[in-house]
Amino acid sequence: MIANGSAIFARARAVLAGGVDSPVRSGWAVGGEPFVQARGAGAYAYDPAGRRYIDYLMAYGPLLLGHGHPALTQGLEAVLAAGAVFGSTHESEITLAERIRTHLPSMERLRFTTTGSEAVAGAIRVARAFTGRDAILKFAGNYHGHFDLALLDAGASAHTSDAARSGIPRSVTRDLAVARYNDLADVDRALDDLGDRLAAIVVEPIVGNMGLVFPREGFLAGLIARAHARGALVIFDEVITWLRFGLAGAQGRLGCTPDLTTIGKILGGGLPLAAFGGRSDVMAMLAPDGPCFTGGTHAGNPFSVALGHRVLDFLEARSVYAAMNARAMRLAAAIRELLAERSLDYAVLHAESIVDFKFRPGPPTMNYDDARAADKRAFAAFYHAMRERGILLAPSQNEVMFLSTEHTDADVEATVLAIAGSLDAIRAQGMI
Ligand code: PMP
Repeated sequence: MIANGSAIFARARAVLAGGVDSPVRSGWAVGGEPFVQARGAGAYAYDPAGRRYIDYLMAYGPLLLGHGHPALTQGLEAVLAAGAVFGSTHESEITLAERIRTHLPSMERLRFTTTGSEAVAGAIRVARAFTGRDAILKFAGNYHGHFDLALLDAGASAHTSDAARSGIPRSVTRDLAVARYNDLADVDRALDDLGDRLAAIVVEPIVGNMGLVFPREGFLAGLIARAHARGALVIFDEVITWLRFGLAGAQGRLGCTPDLTTIGKILGGGLPLAAFGGRSDVMAMLAPDGPCFTGGTHAGNPFSVALGHRVLDFLEARSVYAAMNARAMRLAAAIRELLAERSLDYAVLHAESIVDFKFRPGPPTMNYDDARAADKRAFAAFYHAMRERGILLAPSQNEVMFLSTEHTDADVEATVLAIAGSLDAIRAQGMI
């Protein structure tokens, strides 16, 4: 047994590529020793030495109920004993799809996948099949997964500017246009370039991958109108936002209906489970009804689906959102005060259980250019100062702070103290 993160990481580097299964986990944006986690419990992460951290990384979003919530974990042996994966349709996935459609009526038909990446890839393929066209418009700073087209100019943890050397064929770029989020004039420029080739616009309706970014009034409706005027579709990527922003997701909150939607993360209660779906005429393109193929050995497996039911059981039965929202609002208000006391003009954003601020003075982030203007050195120093004080943040300024149902008022108070101490510490280092 190794009780020290750096020794474990040395072992990791010797056998896992780069020591990680996902590059952001290496902390490449903040330097220093990557965080190694031994276990999680509720709102807390523990390192291999047994030290406790208040966790705002929350596995990049899925853990709305925190780590290991008993409502999700109790009695799982019986579920496994009945079969973890079948390779056949089963009733539980039908019921789960019906339940999802109750909350997201735009998902008239859906197909389960294992990861969010597969869900978005499936939605893009079926949109192409339906329209008979190839081109996709997406937005800089929106992250949709790790498949070829999605990675180019993505935000969050992705760093793939050099397609040629990144294993992404140049040909992919022919069918891709990237526009500035919240900028319909830039969308029009990109659409003009694509001419009549547009199959779909894919967008995070509220962005969680360049910090928290809200769509400007009229932006999403403008995308839908422009896509439909060209006979193309709109895909809302709600992999982060569905269930984070309530049972009706971002689309319910904003009153905008896409043709296709992707969901994931929270849906599986920590297990891999995602889905894409939408208009039944579009989804009818999928085999066996139509020619377009997507599938997967573990897609809709009964174990993950059982977790999905448990997540919905929990969220439908209890009103958890108001309490999380109130706690996150208090955290955001306290951060605003701390920043004001130090004459730091950073915008602090809060929505539901998300809190976010960047080391950049001025108004909130509207697009990826704003996001990239944030001070990376200051954030890196802040990340490490917070970790020393027992707070685990995502090691990238493009991520947000996720609260869960398990974060308490005392956790928020401890976090505020740690932020005050960290801001003072990095100011003493001349960072801010
Ligand atoms: N879409 C969005 C909006 C995401 O945030 C992510 C993951 N961060 C994905 C898709 C990809 O999901 P996965 O990592 O499960 O493949």
